[in-house]
Order: sequence, then C-alpha cells, then structure tokens
Amino acid sequence: MKHQNTDDNKKSLMSELNNIVNEDDIIENQDELEFYSSDIFYKSSISASLVVTPRSPEQVASVIKLITSFDIPVIPRGGGMSYTGGYTPSIEGSVIIDLRKLDKIIEINKKDMYVTVECGVTWKKLYDELKKEGLRTPYFGPFSGMHATVGGALSQNSVFYGSSLYGSAAESVLSLDIALQDGTILKTGSNSNKQEPSPFFRTYGPDLTGLFLGDTGALGFKVKAALKLIIYPEEQRFSSFDFSNEDEMFEAMSEITRQQLAQECYGFDPYLMSLRMKFEGLKKDLKSLGDLSKSQKNILSSAKEVIKVASAGRRFMEGVGYAMHITIEGKDNIEVENSLKRVKEIAELNNGKEITNSLPKLVRANPFLPLNRLLGPKGERWVPIHVILPHSKIKKILREINNYFETNKKIIKKNKIQYGYLTSTIGTSAVLLEPTFFWEDSHYQIHKRYIEKSHYKKLSIFPENLEARNAMNKIREDMSIIFMNNGGAHLQIGKMYKFRENRSETSWNLLISIKKILDPNNLVNPGSLGIR
Ligand SMILES: Cc1cc2nc3c(=O)[nH]c(=O)nc-3n(C[C@H](O)[C@H](O)[C@H](O)COP(=O)(O)OP(=O)(O)OC[C@H]3O[C@@H](n4cnc5c(N)ncnc54)[C@H](O)[C@@H]3O)c2cc1C
Repeated sequence: MKHQNTDDNKKSLMSELNNIVNEDDIIENQDELEFYSSDIFYKSSISASLVVTPRSPEQVASVIKLITSFDIPVIPRGGGMSYTGGYTPSIEGSVIIDLRKLDKIIEINKKDMYVTVECGVTWKKLYDELKKEGLRTPYFGPFSGMHATVGGALSQNSVFYGSSLYGSAAESVLSLDIALQDGTILKTGSNSNKQEPSPFFRTYGPDLTGLFLGDTGALGFKVKAALKLIIYPEEQRFSSFDFSNEDEMFEAMSEITRQQLAQECYGFDPYLMSLRMKFEGLKKDLKSLGDLSKSQKNILSSAKEVIKVASAGRRFMEGVGYAMHITIEGKDNIEVENSLKRVKEIAELNNGKEITNSLPKLVRANPFLPLNRLLGPKGERWVPIHVILPHSKIKKILREINNYFETNKKIIKKNKIQYGYLTSTIGTSAVLLEPTFFWEDSHYQIHKRYIEKSHYKKLSIFPENLEARNAMNKIREDMSIIFMNNGGAHLQIGKMYKFRENRSETSWNLLISIKKILDPNNLVNPGSLGIR
C-alpha cells in the first residue's frame, strides 16, 4: 500500500528512522536542506524534505528501504561537486542521502592488487593513503577530488588524472556493492561468488558492475567499490607545447594518445589558458612547488628545477596560443625519456613549439587543491559542459561550436558571458571537449562553503542575474543538442544531457525493464538518466 506524505506518516517515518541512524545523522534545518538541494549550477525550486547521513552500507540499505516504503523518493549524494542536476530534487518530499560518512578504506590488497573502499571516501583521501604504500589506482580522480567521492565519480563516470592512458574511472573498477531499493545489497563480479568471494575479476559472466557505472544513481546506491591498483610510478616527466591553431593541437594530442605515451594529455584554448593564469599568484605557485619538492622528489628532482619553474613565474604562458600539456609516467628513466622523446617528435611534426612545462608540474604537485575555481577569477559564476567524441569527429564539432557562438554573439555579449574550452584525451579512442562559461551572477551556498575563506574574501559579489542565468541554460541546452546530433557521449548525464533522446529503442527499453525490476515505483533518484 502506498503511504501519503501526511504529518502522521512523517512522525512514523522519523521514529523508525531513529531506530536505524543516530539523531545527528538526520538533518531538518531549512538552510541545510537548501544547501543540499542545489548543485554547482542548478538551484531546484524544490528542497529536500530531509537529509540523512548514514554511517555504514547496512544503514544505507535499511534507510532507503524504509523511506521508499513510505512512497518517498531517495536521492544519493556524494561530494555534491556536479552541475547537471544529478542529485537536485524534482519531486516534493524527496529525501537526500548524504554518503560522505561512508569513508573507510577497507582493504589494500598488495598481493592481488586491489583496494576496497566505502563509496563516500574522497579521491584525495584514497590517493594519499595509497601513496604511503607506494600504490595508486590507474585513474586516480577528478580535479574536484578534494571533495568528490569515489561513489559520485563511479555513478556519473569521470576522467582526468591518468585518463589518457587508463581511460575513465569506470575502467578502474573491479566490483561494486550496491544497496538496492528493497534493502538488499548486491555484490558484483567474482565478489558475488557464494564460495570464497573476492573482488579480483570483474567480468565473470555478464558485467553487472558495468550496469551500475554511470547510472547517476538511478539504479541503486553504491556503498563499496573495489578498484585496481598499480605500483606508484617511480618516474615522471612533463612537457608543454604552444600551437598556433587548434587543429594542429588536436592532431598532436590524438597521436600521442594513440601511441599510449602519456598518462595525461590535455589542452586549453587561448582564452581559458590566460584565465587560468589569473587565478593564483606566484607566491602560491612557489608554495605548491615547495610542498612538492619535499614530498615528491621524482616530480621536481632538484632545487634547480624548482627555481626554474618559479622564475618563469606567471609569465610562462604569456602570448601562448593553443597550449598542450603532457604528463608521462614510467618505471624508470629510460622508459620515460623514450616516451618524452616521441612526444616531442609528434608535437614538432604538428608545428608545436616547446614551452615551459610549469603547468603540468604544478597540476601534479597538488592534484587535489581546494576548489577555488568553483567561481571565476573575479567571482563570476562558472559552469562547464562537455562532449566525448572519437578523434575523427573533433574538428567538425569545433567548427559547429564556433558557428554557434558566432550566431549567438549578441546574446553572449549582452549577458557578458565569457567562454573558452579545455580538452583531454581518454584512453586510445576518445577525446573530451569541455566548453566552459563565466558570467556575473549571485553565488550559492555551495560556492561560499567550498571556496577557501581567504580566497572568497577577494572575490566580487554579484547580484542575482536571472537573465544571464537563463541565457546560460539555453546555451547549455542548445549545445547538448549539437552534441547529440554529432553522436557525442557524456559523463555526468544527470538530468541534463540528451541520453534518453539518443538511445535506440531496444537499448532504452532494456534499461527501463532493468529499472523496473530494481525500483518498480521509480523512487530511486527519479528524473536522473531521463527516467521519469
Ligand atoms: C572544480 C571542479 C572540477 C571538476 N573536475 C572534474 C574532472 O577533472 N573530471 C571529471 O570527470 N569531473 C570533474 N568535475 C565534476 C564532478 O566533480 C565529478 O564528476 C565528481 O566525480 C562528482 O563526484 P561527487 O562525489 O561530488 O558526486 P555528486 O555530485 O554528489 O553526485 C553525482 C551523481 O552521482 C550520484 N551519486 C553520488 N554518490 C553516489 C553513490 N554512492 N551511489 C549512487 N549514486 C551516487 C548522485 O545522485 C549524482 O547523480 C569537477 C567539478 C568541479 C566543481
């Protein structure tokens, strides 16, 4: 029988909830509910009615079973670092389940080379703990990894650190534990054995792990994950190049990635590159490099190197056009030097000019910095949109995007919207292109809470600017149609990208049938993945 959301039902829900979690694991304060209900871009007009912060996988399973038995939707939330409405409520009364208290690193298995974690652990914590053991996961996190969780990244998939060689976050996963709507916990891969379960092999039979990766939490709540391990690479090299046009930069990036020469291969257009340089001063660079030279002697092996990067200062990117940045890792000097030599040959063949490699060094020095870039350098609002395409389709979409900006230049100018793009390769066969926008508008609580206080103080506060925000909404909508028409794929589908619209009937029907088995009343993150 379905329950109504009446006061009596709320009382009875609260009393049963108190039997599962502690009093301080339940949040009812209106300010907090509003904070939890908006992401970096979307502010829902509907606030969650409650936030619950369980402390164990078993508590998560019991909480979602209980809440959905009242016909109330439940929404998983990790670090909250997304911007596609993946966890913003679309139905009155929804309850957000904050998974960040599930942050244990359960087992580092050096013999079988996997790590098992609870899904609320941040990428930063995982990276730091593994590093102490001389280990790492192949893909090791997004830029937002100081707050972004393993569960969030696996639920919407994620790329950056390590992605040019190892692919996306999903490719590092061996098995998952998923709390389902009915309160059971599903284990996947070889970890679902009745006899001697262990998460050492993912594709034992059909890949049930893969079914839940990138589901934006529509199929269940990830509570544990086992990820592959690699030995922390002994040697790193860095390299940066300036190209006078984007075609040559993309040609070089694609070839370097096809030849598997780099762990990271990314680029910026001139606008975004110059903007990046405005963020922090030389003082901060020096501090990063100082920390780095103490902790990661392989990245900057000598004081001379530190001085070289530091003395290049902020000027190292002045006048640069399209900038490509490379991180190469390997077991020994010969391996990385060979890769570096080939990278340089490929860049030169495409007319790239070598420039100071400070940026990739700085990025690796502190992979997970505080999220001061949640806003632009002056305090403007920031939001990216992205598409993933094969190498062969990048030039065409760039032309279409440039045409779109040209056609819409009046509205862009009127609303003082600034834009540029960043790009990065993913494994051998895909490229991510991320147009990024800045406009003057009011800040949300999420910006104020996550940006360092000392940095936030220096930023301008803009009044609410709904006209520009609506223009941004339209630009994102128009661009997601361009992406769909070019056969693009996406991470972070949430409630934004045209996933449903571009599924073949057979594939969509299968997904919906699976959803119906796992969540017959569509109470697990309704609306995400376009499932209504
Ligand atoms: C400054 C900045 C830099 C970024 N850099 C990158 C980058 O380099 N690469 C990249 O890919 N992305 C990047 N992102 C986007 C985003 O941070 C990542 O996608 C990140 O993985 C989100 O993790 P989260 O824990 O914050 O997830 P959330 O935002 O909390 O949730 C994301 C989605 O997953 C669902 N979800 C969360 N946890 C679970 C769970 N345990 N089980 C089931 N569903 C769950 C939510 O319902 C939601 O739909 C960046 C964002 C910011 C703000």
